Amino acid sequence: MLVYDVVIVGAGPAGSSAAYDLASAGANVLIVDKENFPRDKPCGGGLTTKTVNALRFDISEVIYQECNRISLTNNFRHPVKDMASQTIAYMTERRDFDQFCLDKAIKAGAKFSVMSITHITRQNGQAVTLTTQDGRKITTPFVIAADGSKSIIRRIALPKKDRLQYAFALEGRVAMPEKYDRQRLDFDFFMVPHGYGWVFPKGDHLNIGIGNFRDRTIKDKKISKRILTDYCRKKLGHAEIESVIGHPLGGGGWSAKISSDRILFVGDAAGTVDSLLGEGIYNAIISGQAAAKAILEAMNHNNCPVMLTQKYEDSFNVIRKDLAFCNMMGKGFYGFPSLFYLSLLISPLRRRLLESFAKGKTVSGKNGMTGRIFNFPETLLPIS
Ligand SMILES: Cc1cc2nc3c(=O)[nH]c(=O)nc-3n(C[C@H](O)[C@H](O)[C@H](O)COP(=O)(O)OP(=O)(O)OC[C@H]3O[C@@H](n4cnc5c(N)ncnc54)[C@H](O)[C@@H]3O)c2cc1C
Repeated sequence: MLVYDVVIVGAGPAGSSAAYDLASAGANVLIVDKENFPRDKPCGGGLTTKTVNALRFDISEVIYQECNRISLTNNFRHPVKDMASQTIAYMTERRDFDQFCLDKAIKAGAKFSVMSITHITRQNGQAVTLTTQDGRKITTPFVIAADGSKSIIRRIALPKKDRLQYAFALEGRVAMPEKYDRQRLDFDFFMVPHGYGWVFPKGDHLNIGIGNFRDRTIKDKKISKRILTDYCRKKLGHAEIESVIGHPLGGGGWSAKISSDRILFVGDAAGTVDSLLGEGIYNAIISGQAAAKAILEAMNHNNCPVMLTQKYEDSFNVIRKDLAFCNMMGKGFYGFPSLFYLSLLISPLRRRLLESFAKGKTVSGKNGMTGRIFNFPETLLPIS
């Protein structure tokens, strides 16, 4: 018996955003997560303006700091500071943010259950059956796989060649120093190969982290607790970091497969983390919303799977273009660090970038930086 119109696996920002839209439109939605909420999630918890704008509801309750200033270095050399006229990033804690978004979806009518999905079986192209760790089975016409960068659904539903490209990041918590600029975001580019170190203020503490966003061959080998500790010592004069935790980030979404029959992949499970700055929450949210929209359209057309994948591909194309652009920029930025860092030292360029972030532009957005700063024609975007 088909009880739910849609089952969403994973209650991070991608899953909750999809659940919210589907439930608000009257669909019968079940969202499951292997963790009981609230739960911690390794993350810097930095939300750009475009991320906050993309959400369907106000999240000021779970914003602990707004930042409009930046401090940049090229591996501690050539420091530069600047500020935007408005907020460029909103600081949250994923434990609270994810619970808040899930609560909104539940209030909109979605059902939530703690379940770990371990297996899926397709039912003659008509439905999908999900099996939980304790042997329960749920059959549904549509599945949204929002189960993050280690997506088990992706591993089961798609062949090995469709595995994602991974980045890796590590973060921890540091006590707030007595005198500290709480509206400033610190980025120390290239202090790890193909990545950067960051310090984000969170009201009563700092979040410190390091991430490698490009070179999959060196991955976590160059991102270790020891390197994070050294970074902390260099930045803050001590090495007292608590709750150090790392996690892979799912990338490669500019060309990744994002659907399989009646299953749509969203967020990290679709490789939507950008490989320039490692930002993932924005694309997680908008891909979740795009999947919800595609399912609602398919439901209006007799649960048609062709309509489902076509509609999702159409909306996802915007994300693909942005990811492709970030990938191209990342190749240049991390491949030629000194040259690209030089551009950040040019005050009008840097200010333009900052103001674009503050206004909620995407890196490649139509009205965003492409037209005004980098000016790459769309046809040059490397989407395969
Ligand atoms: C250290 C670090 C720092 C980061 N900092 C930032 C940042 O500051 N800003 C930003 O925008 N992005 C950041 N990111 C990226 C961001 O965290 C991710 O892109 C984002 O969480 C993706 O959301 P999601 O909903 O796709 O997946 P997730 O948030 O990973 O959620 C997936 C959910 O699926 C559940 N799940 C997994 N498997 C199963 C299963 N088998 N059954 C049931 N449930 C399952 C998990 O428990 C989890 O709750 C960072 C990442 C890391 C690792």
